[in-house]
Amino acid sequence: MVFRKKCFFFVSETLEKMERTLVILKPCTVQRGLIGEIISRFEKKGLVLVGMKMTWLSDETLSEHYAHLKDKPFFQRVKNAMNTCPVIVCCWEGLEAVSVVRTITGVTNGRHALPGTIRGDYSMSVQENIVHASDSTKTAVIELKRFFKEDELFSYNPSLLSNLYANDEV
Ligand code: UDP
Ligand code: MG
Repeated sequence: MVFRKKCFFFVSETLEKMERTLVILKPCTVQRGLIGEIISRFEKKGLVLVGMKMTWLSDETLSEHYAHLKDKPFFQRVKNAMNTCPVIVCCWEGLEAVSVVRTITGVTNGRHALPGTIRGDYSMSVQENIVHASDSTKTAVIELKRFFKEDELFSYNPSLLSNLYANDEV
């Protein structure tokens, strides 16, 4: 009983420190059969999956999601590519998850992304670059709300937490 109570406090304090970020496995990833491999990269890093679903993105949602590109000549091309088939949207949790995921993802152009990053290892393209990843903590909050309902994201105690972090980190 005492242990369970302690455990509860541990979880709630720990969760407050954690960040959440959005990753979208793009149509190129779904079509190339790379879903498992890419999910595995984030899992192996030690990020915790707290939400995931397959969805077919509408032009309306994509216009909102890529609003920062609306004046670019490739705006419609990028949106079209993103709704050629369903995508996988995921929410990953961890300390500094937003920046960690961006680092793992690599720079936008797959040809320039460093080996060892997801784009560097799997992409030869600026557009067909495997994943979308939120670019800041502020954006992550907005993007997670865009793609997930509240009850589609889960809070649970990852059993390996003490093997992922020192106890003064979490
Ligand atoms: N994109 C493109 N050409 C460009 C820049 C971006 O096709 O010159 C596409 C690419 O798929 C990229 C997405 O638009 O992932 C969003 O662009 P952003 O600048 O936000 O890059 P990201 O954050 O994905 O690295
Ligand atoms: Mg971006």
